[in-house]
Amino acid sequence: MADNSKTCSQCCEKPVWLDRASGRYLCKKHLIESVEGDAYTYLKKNNLPDKVGIAFSGGKDSSALLAAVSVLQKDFSFTPVALTIDEGINGYREDTIKAANEITDKLKIEHYIISFKTIFGKTLDEMVVGRENRACTICGILRRRALEILAKEHEIDVIATGHNLDDRAQTAIMNAISGDTKKVFSGRGVSSYVRRIKPFENSSEREVTIYAMVRGVFNELPECPYATSSLRGEVRHLLNIYERSHPGTMRNAAICEEEIREKLGKYWKPGKHYKCSLCGYPSSSEICQVCKLTKEV
Ligand code: SF4
Repeated sequence: MADNSKTCSQCCEKPVWLDRASGRYLCKKHLIESVEGDAYTYLKKNNLPDKVGIAFSGGKDSSALLAAVSVLQKDFSFTPVALTIDEGINGYREDTIKAANEITDKLKIEHYIISFKTIFGKTLDEMVVGRENRACTICGILRRRALEILAKEHEIDVIATGHNLDDRAQTAIMNAISGDTKKVFSGRGVSSYVRRIKPFENSSEREVTIYAMVRGVFNELPECPYATSSLRGEVRHLLNIYERSHPGTMRNAAICEEEIREKLGKYWKPGKHYKCSLCGYPSSSEICQVCKLTKEV
């Protein structure tokens, strides 16, 4: 948190945020301007249709995104629609869905919810018994499909997610740890029914959290019980330690992977595209990951 003896770097108000890498302090008003300004620049570069889905868990990142988009939509011609997936995580999802409903009511944004149980016949809790350490991998693959199904149902072909700079840094380190250089290009060339955009990709998690607080959409919620057992959870913990002792670590890790992607992109060849022979969804193999997973569960 910012030092109370300081003032905002752009005015004389009390700061609520300190960017330790640059030494810049920002008050409420200028933090809002900074986060929304970055999101505006990002959205401006993307060609947006009339309706944009916001992947909305009810947590701080997606709540902040929904608040930013609901302010920025006046500068564009799209209508935001909130899309929530209920994975079926006991002791966690009930609270976040309640918070999600309160926020969409407050912001007057249309809100659709769909559950794993409805789509795949089981909750995430039921699917991961005995293999809890794979929960995030399974959850990520199935949630992506669930979002596509929900988007298709409501004729939405662009989805904005709350991914921020910290998420990008974590992914960069996880890709390096995996030793699989192809992962740097994962996502490229994957055909899908929906296009994904990340308006907060250049804002840090802390900045987005404080933005959610000053915009009045922050709720103190329980953490997902599977979060700490995942590789991402461990990487996140370590990167947070490095960021504290070496400000700028997150941004450097994210930029480093981005530069590798740009420089090596010319050597990357897209794999073959398939239509899954079981469900018909776009896939990188004859049977898609979702069908492989739901067959095994
Ligand atoms: Fe799913 Fe893992 Fe996130 Fe929990 S922490 S919601 S299991 S991806």
